[in-house]
Amino acid sequence: VAEGDRQGNGGIFKLITASRRTIFTFGTAQSGFSPTGPTWVYLVEGDDGWAMVDTGDVGSLRRLRPALQSVGLDIRRARRAFITHGHWDHDGGAAELQRELGMELWAHETYPYLQQIDLYEVQHSNRLVALGRKSMPKDTPKMEYKWDDHHKPYAAGRKAMRITHPVWEGRTSGPMTGWQTPGHTADELTVLCDGMVFTGDHVLPEISPHPSVKLTYPAELQKLLPERFRDASWQYGLHVYLKSLVRVARLHDTHTVLPAHRLLNKGKVNLVSADRAGQIIEHHLQRFNKIVAILGREERTLHEVTTQVFSYRRLDTGSYQQGLTEVVAHLELMEDCGDLSITPKGGVRWKGTEGYRELVEGLMAQAKE
Ligand SMILES: [Zn+2]
Repeated sequence: VAEGDRQGNGGIFKLITASRRTIFTFGTAQSGFSPTGPTWVYLVEGDDGWAMVDTGDVGSLRRLRPALQSVGLDIRRARRAFITHGHWDHDGGAAELQRELGMELWAHETYPYLQQIDLYEVQHSNRLVALGRKSMPKDTPKMEYKWDDHHKPYAAGRKAMRITHPVWEGRTSGPMTGWQTPGHTADELTVLCDGMVFTGDHVLPEISPHPSVKLTYPAELQKLLPERFRDASWQYGLHVYLKSLVRVARLHDTHTVLPAHRLLNKGKVNLVSADRAGQIIEHHLQRFNKIVAILGREERTLHEVTTQVFSYRRLDTGSYQQGLTEVVAHLELMEDCGDLSITPKGGVRWKGTEGYRELVEGLMAQAKE
């Protein structure tokens, strides 16, 4: 419908599913620069109004209202929004949409609990992330992006919104079915509808989503969470993420991925099948192999591994944190497989075994079933 810019900001598509259902999607710009490009916000035609999937960044309403109008859709006809996960470029617009339009908010059943805490802070309690941050050189260039300016209004909105419909595994809304697919975040939802699969940041074309690192919930949060969700070990970490990828990969070519980013980039449309999830598993196997090659048989610091894995780019304080957590996610899985020893000071030594390979290849085989 509209091409937008090279990254897809302002782009609009109209899709018709096999059962003649209309889906619109809007490349919704983020408030700061984003290497992932805009958030693709979807509007799905339902029997009782339209359902939105993801809400874009803080302030997205002033972008979405005219965008919807341009395809003849009054935003007041959007009755509900599914939040794929609690990251600002997905749930940032939700508080305003609820306040201004009274929209129902559908999110993972743990979302109402997790929305009370700052998960970016909790992530720093991870042992390896804390060690790695200490080893970041003092002269690392500062991230240009003004985190506080953006994060504060986001955090306030996130705390204020009210999830009207917690989504448990398999919960449906008309033609839409929610799957809980933790790994990128604990509260990641994948939504299936008419041969389409809305993947949020769980599965993306072109780029590989960021896996989470292991963490433990603070005691006060554990008390609030439903019992089943108190143990965070099955909700965070690379192994959790890879298992959730297997679920989507097994949809194979019966489903088309509708991702939250990179649907359109540099003039190219990226419509891929659910098999993309299997490719991402394979990408991680290659990343493990790269880490093993970097480690060799010497003891390495977390800083050395991080800067060498990402040697092709200059890391500022923001991307260093991203790179470090990516590396830690892999090291944690290798440690669990018995392939690594890590000293209390964060020295990493490869033991020469490849238990990780057996595990990931097993998942790749499951993904192909
Ligand atoms: Zn995300």
